[in-house]
Amino acid sequence: DNEDYILQTINLSKSFGGIKAVNNVSFKVKPKENLGVIGPNGAGKTTMFNLITGYIPIDSGEIIFENNNIEKLPARKRSLTGISRTFQTSQLFLDLTIKENLFLAANKNQNTYNIFIPWNKDKEKIEKSIEIAKEIGLYDNFNVKAKELPHGKRRLLGIGQALISDSKLLMLDEPAAGLPAQERNTISKLIKKITKELTLIIIDHDMDIIFDLADRVLVMNQGEILAIGDPEEIQNNEEVQRIYVGGE
Ligand code: ATP
Repeated sequence: DNEDYILQTINLSKSFGGIKAVNNVSFKVKPKENLGVIGPNGAGKTTMFNLITGYIPIDSGEIIFENNNIEKLPARKRSLTGISRTFQTSQLFLDLTIKENLFLAANKNQNTYNIFIPWNKDKEKIEKSIEIAKEIGLYDNFNVKAKELPHGKRRLLGIGQALISDSKLLMLDEPAAGLPAQERNTISKLIKKITKELTLIIIDHDMDIIFDLADRVLVMNQGEILAIGDPEEIQNNEEVQRIYVGGE
């Protein structure tokens, strides 16, 4: 029954020129589930995120979020329904402080980024910014500019920005990529903590993080779903093993 799912894609497709980046992808996600997404470079993982969030338009298919078709909604409206994401490359304002970055993200829903909203006028959003800064462990750096932060903390801030809009579905695109082991561990712990109340879809090449966090793992290859199942099933799947031989 569809009501058991928070998100469903049906035959989702997107081509760039001759490349079928996402090809007839159908899957369902349960509320509060943690879905890991893996697959080799160019498999279509980020494109799938871009389609679900409305960052790029679909060619065909359906995206159903909480029983409503959203594939025709612009990205901003989708985020208002409770879908938020991070990007592979940081979307931070490097010259602004953590406080300002969070406050702007808290106001993002209303009118993309409205940089003219004065700090101090909106008690509720200020408090939310403080709460999120504490949650991501950056309250001590509240008035530090984003550019002063090491990369691991910038990633935490990016996750904080995605969290601040009370999202129901959080989509993280390689939150731990390129970080040293200790920082990957910090990110992974934070994600575990915040996803108790959320539905999570996470792309990462770090199998330890994926298999640790995920209830189910979706494997993409050449735009298609190669396999979807619980972590043990996926680890023992021969086709999955084959695409990773010599890879990553
Ligand atoms: P990675 O793990 O390297 O991030 P990915 O699984 O996220 O890879 P995508 O970035 O979704 O893969 O790319 C899927 C395919 O679509 C690739 O062949 C890529 O070159 C192509 N592609 C993605 N975005 C565009 C674009 N804007 N224009 C043209 N081709 C694109």
